[in-house]
This record gives sequence, C-alpha cells and structure tokens, in this order.
Amino acid sequence: MLRPTIAQDALAWSNRGDRAALERLLLAYPPISSISATAAIALARAKRCPLAELSDLALLREPDEREAFLGWQAAVRNARANDDPVPLQSLLESPPQSNARAEAAFVVGAAPASALAPEPQRPVPTPNRPFSASALNMFVDCRRRWFFRYVCDPIDEPNSPAASYGTAFHAALERFHSEFARPSGALRTEMQRRLDTLVIEAFEDARPTFDTVVEVELQKQRARRTALRYIDWLCERAEQMPFEVVGIERRVSPTIGDRQFVGFIDRIDRFERDGSLAVIDYKTGSIAGSAKEYRERVRKFEDFQLPFYYWSQQLAGEAVSRLALVPLKGHTVPVIPIELEVVSADAPLRDNGARGTISIADLERARDRMVELGTEIRSDRISQFAASTDPDACAYCVYTLACRARPQPEPERFSR
Ligand code: SF4
Repeated sequence: MLRPTIAQDALAWSNRGDRAALERLLLAYPPISSISATAAIALARAKRCPLAELSDLALLREPDEREAFLGWQAAVRNARANDDPVPLQSLLESPPQSNARAEAAFVVGAAPASALAPEPQRPVPTPNRPFSASALNMFVDCRRRWFFRYVCDPIDEPNSPAASYGTAFHAALERFHSEFARPSGALRTEMQRRLDTLVIEAFEDARPTFDTVVEVELQKQRARRTALRYIDWLCERAEQMPFEVVGIERRVSPTIGDRQFVGFIDRIDRFERDGSLAVIDYKTGSIAGSAKEYRERVRKFEDFQLPFYYWSQQLAGEAVSRLALVPLKGHTVPVIPIELEVVSADAPLRDNGARGTISIADLERARDRMVELGTEIRSDRISQFAASTDPDACAYCVYTLACRARPQPEPERFSR
C-alpha cells in the first residue's frame, strides 16, 4: 500500500508538473539510494536540467541503479505526458526486482556480503543547552522539525527576504530606541526622520543577505512606510500611557523550575503610572488576528514567547502588567499591537479585538508546561519525533525534502 504522500506527489507531478513533488518521488524510489537520489537532484538543479531529462548518469555508480533511474525517468515522463499518475505510482509501489542486488537479497538464507547488522535502537541524545521559547514553539508545532533543527542540525537555514527584512527592521528599532527612550507626540517629526534614516542604514548593512538589488529596495521601502506607522502608534501610546523604554534586545536567561531558558526580549517599557512593565515582541511575519486568538494559543500551549518573557521579568523581581505583539509586516495598515493585560486568576476575561486580558493562572500553566517539555526533551527517552499532522506547519519548513511523513495540504487531498 502506498503512503498518501507518494500518491499525492505522483498526482502533483502528472497534473501540474510540480518539480518539488518529482524530487520527493525520486527520494522515495527504493532501488535508488538516498545518496544517489540527492546527488541526481543537486546535479539537475545545478545544470538547470529537468530531472526527468538528466542524462549524466556517471554519479550513479551501480549499474542496477542506473537502470532503475532510466526506468523511473521513463515513468515520470509518461505520467506527465498522459496526465496519469497511476503507472508511476505502481512503479513506486512495486519497484523492479530484476537487478542483481535484489535477486541476491531474495536467496533464502543468503545475505548480501555488504549487509550490516542493524544498529540497536538507542534514545537520541538531545543537545545540552538552554531552551528558548522559539525552540519550544517548534517542538509543539512539529517534533520532527525540532529534531531536524536542534538534534541533526543538517543545514544552514537559508536567508529568506522575510527573515532579512525582520533582522534589518529589528536592528533599526534597537538603535532608534537607544536614542528615543521616552517617545512623545512633541518629538513626532524628529522621530520620523531619525527612524527613516536608521531603517535605510540597516537595510544597507543587510544588503548582502538579500538575493537581489530589487529585493532589498522593495523591502526597504516597505520598512520605511511601516516605520511611519510605528511612530504614529508610539505617539498615541505615549499620550495614553506614558512610558520609558528600559530594555532593548535584552538577553534573559532565567532558571524556571529546574530548567535553564534563554532568549532576547525586543523591547521592555516601564509605565510612568505605576512602574509596571510591558514586554514587547516585534513581529515582522504573521501573528494572531486578535488578543483572544493569541490567548487561546497560550492556553493550548502552542505559543510560549510572551509567557516566557513575562516569567523572565517576574523572576527578576519586576511586575509585568502587559504583553504585546507589535506587527511590523504591512505598511498599508496602522500598527495595532495584539496586547494582553495580565489579570488575577478570578478576574473575568475581557476581549476587544486587538486588546484583551490573560489571567495569571494561564501564565502559570504555560510556565509549568514549559518546564515539563524541557524535562521531556532532556530525558532522552523520546523514541519517535512525530511529524506534524497540520499541513500549515510545513509551509516554511526547510526540511520538506527530507520529510517523508509530512501531511498533505488539504487542496491536494481532494484534487482527483
Ligand atoms: S515537512 Fe512538515 S512534518 Fe516534516 S518536519 Fe517539516 S513541518 Fe514537520
């Protein structure tokens, strides 16, 4: 029986010519080793040659692998030409067994001379370093991805324009708030000019991390326009709840329970009214659509970022009254943070779009869950790092090529 992944990839190739699906189909073809398949994919990419047409077979050292590859190429070409995935699926389901290696494997009692005894299964040791909230978020999102990222660490995650945009914008804001710790409406024009200059400088510094000149210019213009909206929000907030920025990119490394955690808080504000703190995370990607949605993510243990910041400051003796995610993605809409006010365990929860409340009891449960997850990871007793069952979790995963257990996107399941 085929895995749905293979069936869906065969369909994606035959119907749409999906090249990523085709590469996975080669990796999933048993007569060709994963090393040979990966080499063929890399060669085809480097030569900008379709994998189905690749004729340089010197990299396939075994004659039976070459033969299998030619058969696989014929099947994928036919599947595409006839818009029919079935024969290709059949090939993957019942790969040819006529080669010498396969025949030898089926001689009763005989094992190939090169066969090795399987290694005894052992727990996978996990790296002994402090936990970050983003690592825990990844762990609950997809344990398989966490395993690839933090245990195997096989590849450097490539720079994406979105990541470069975020890094440059963070750098500009860090410098900006070191100069403007007490924003106010009276400083609006001065702040606008200065932040604009800092954004331009930050994107110039980040130029090597973008692939093209056009990309860096587009992202810089987006950031400049978003920066104006950020200043609007700063002025409005300073008028409503005067504050001083007391921390920028602050490194925190609290011990929570018996676990060591580490992270950087983008910004910490102290309110003049009562001396309490707001912990702020800048978001240059997608965020929850409302305070209620974010609170539910915290309650379901799907997001530990702001709870972690909260506890890092509480344990340092501060009183944190607000948690905020500041969206810096879109320049076409005002900057309206998702903001949660911390209330007592028995206070009724309130929600009003982007603003809402979160109870201290929810934050305590999130803290306890962080410690539990840390203990589970350190126990080295995890025998299976399960893949996510949610296709959305795979959207930005760099390990999709290596992950044969990934779930299929909803549209593809019903595309036949
Ligand atoms: S492709 Fe999806 S299931 Fe696989 S590791 Fe990545 S996020 Fe997890």
